[in-house]
Amino acid sequence: SDKRNSAPMARTFNTSAPDFETRFSRFLGEQRADGHDVGGIVAKILDEVEARGGEAVARYTAQFDELQIDPTTLQSDNVDLAALAAECPADLKEAIDFAHDRIAAYHSAQRPSDHSFTDEAGVELGWRWTSLESVGVYVPGGRASYPSSVLMNTVPAKIAGVDRIVMVAPAPKGEMAPAVAYAALRAGVDEFYPIGGAQAVGALAFGAGRLKPVDKIVGPGNAFVAEAKRQVFGRVGIDTIAGPSEILVIADETANPDWIAADLLSQAEHDPSSQSILIAVDEVVGRAVDNAVDKQLKTLATGERAARSWSSHGAIIIARDLDEAATIANRIAAEHVELAVADPDAMLPKIRHAGAVFLGHHTPEALGDYVTGSNHVLPTSRAARFSSGLGLYDFLKRMSVQRASPEGFAALAPAALRLAEAERLPAHARSVSIRSNAGPGDVG
Ligand code: NAD
Repeated sequence: SDKRNSAPMARTFNTSAPDFETRFSRFLGEQRADGHDVGGIVAKILDEVEARGGEAVARYTAQFDELQIDPTTLQSDNVDLAALAAECPADLKEAIDFAHDRIAAYHSAQRPSDHSFTDEAGVELGWRWTSLESVGVYVPGGRASYPSSVLMNTVPAKIAGVDRIVMVAPAPKGEMAPAVAYAALRAGVDEFYPIGGAQAVGALAFGAGRLKPVDKIVGPGNAFVAEAKRQVFGRVGIDTIAGPSEILVIADETANPDWIAADLLSQAEHDPSSQSILIAVDEVVGRAVDNAVDKQLKTLATGERAARSWSSHGAIIIARDLDEAATIANRIAAEHVELAVADPDAMLPKIRHAGAVFLGHHTPEALGDYVTGSNHVLPTSRAARFSSGLGLYDFLKRMSVQRASPEGFAALAPAALRLAEAERLPAHARSVSIRSNAGPGDVG
């Protein structure tokens, strides 16, 4: 028997077991994000920032990040983006440049086309894509400060043609990662402010000091940041609220258990509330991955965090076949789905709900996290059922365009008139009827 010492074990499920549906449904319903009630605190900070602007932002920045900033410029003498960027090691700069160019290429390929057509009634119809004017990018501070996130949130905005990209990132006691500063400059951030938390979100939404309001705020952050984005939504746009990270691997007998174990741990190491799931169609592979995870955990610097994630949220599911594996994967709707199977192309059409899919044995999620070029900001907590990852589209809007010829107008007017009457909106009706009886020159 496989006896384990201190190593934690993920839960195992077997789809053939009689209690599978009951246990699996319960597993699906489990909450991982902490339900921390921060609503009141955030509302107060936002109110203060809206009422007092830069003075409030400076006060909160001193309180939470121990950093003095000027209430007008919102800058600190201790945080200089260009000076920080210069400290970034050359080989890391190269890797950031490489990632940048691939992300730019991928998102350039996403550009949708304008479209127009004329229908049988003689009405010209279509739509045009236009970009947002200004965007705020929130970059979390501390342990979670990643140059890759700076690129993923900023490059698509740049490619979309956003005129003004404003980055905020808390710099506790003036500290900030040089790689984050380099990535920001590489991506072409137009303005940078060393502020964070709800006060930074408020400053972006309402304006503060010299910081002018933006039209949309994107980027991950802690519970205060997420709640602040929720509260300013409507006044500005926001991206989706990111929860803890997830990976789901579907493996058949051709999968390498050591590789799969490494992939599962690559998400587990993010956070104790991250989730890693294996669906194996081969019981031997399932057991081998389980053992490999235990073994690798012992040599991982982030092993303690990963072990907590793996033991409390991890799972190994043994499925009868790949069809059943796909059905279960679709119910989970994970952020990342790896198809570590002999024929991933045959499997792909069966995957309907996933943030991003990774095909075959040589495409670990970590490649996509950094350098394939696709975006790593993806729907979590089963939001892949109804939404997609960040892309060029998030920085574009679609305007509809229409033009009726006199003949087209005549064909459409009676129905419009009848609907306006039914809705008791006489001015609507008149704006149609007034044109029915006269040409454009015959005003009055
Ligand atoms: P952060 O930038 O999200 O938050 C720091 C700010 O939180 C501080 O500036 C402060 O204003 C505010 N704050 C802290 N305690 C507060 C309190 N008691 N009252 C009011 N405000 C308070 O940085 P962080 O805290 O290190 O968190 C990073 C978060 O970002 C993590 O939750 C991590 O999971 C997340 N993250 C997610 C992704 C992703 O792609 N999903 C990537 C990177 C980071």
